[in-house]
Amino acid sequence: MEENKYKKLTAELAEKNVQLVAVSKYQSDEAVIQLYNYGQRIFGENKVQDLVAKQARFPNDIAWHMIGHLQSNKVKYIAPFIAMIHSVDNLKLLQEINKQAAKHNRIIPCMLQVHIASEETKFGFSSEEIIQAAEFIQNNSLPYIEIVGLMGMASNTIDKAQIDSEFAALHTLFTKLKTAYFSSQSSFRELSMGMSSDYEIAIKNGSTFVRLGSILFK
Ligand SMILES: *Cc1c(COP(=O)(O)O)cnc(C)c1O
Repeated sequence: MEENKYKKLTAELAEKNVQLVAVSKYQSDEAVIQLYNYGQRIFGENKVQDLVAKQARFPNDIAWHMIGHLQSNKVKYIAPFIAMIHSVDNLKLLQEINKQAAKHNRIIPCMLQVHIASEETKFGFSSEEIIQAAEFIQNNSLPYIEIVGLMGMASNTIDKAQIDSEFAALHTLFTKLKTAYFSSQSSFRELSMGMSSDYEIAIKNGSTFVRLGSILFK
């Protein structure tokens, strides 16, 4: 993406209080550094191995976000540096993040991923499971984790009305959980939803983090 287009996009997002996660998976180092030089500081990856390698070789003022499915046994590799984990989809994982964060005396901001798409393949808590997860979080001490909100991926479809209703449902769930379980936590305020093909619909539905890959790097 040319610099003027990047500046225009980020100005529009900033005006709406939406943060941009630049999804750098599949991209060359040159392309990542170009965005960095435009001023981009939040980058997202969906694999632990790539996060570890990129964190080591890119400038250390980058905030690295984990956006993909995370296995509990790999948390230890990213715990020293990860700035945010968008994709917490089970409680065992949450407890492991707490344990590994403790070793580095860090508090890791996490989002709970909710399954909102019609496809079977996407990870995340169901809308019933997320209630149990919220209750678990309320009743257990996880001092090295800060639950900052919810993440979701809409169905991979060209049906904009369906995407719109999936994002709207996630926003409704967010509001419900905030009221019922997180009302005393001002940090529970983020909704990570929207990719290159659907970020405008996501923003209309209250997204605070869009995760953009292909559109930024073309
Ligand atoms: C790859 C990926 C994105 C970015 O997708 P684009 O369509 O390239 O914008 C966003 N979120 C997750 C979880 C991803 O894996």
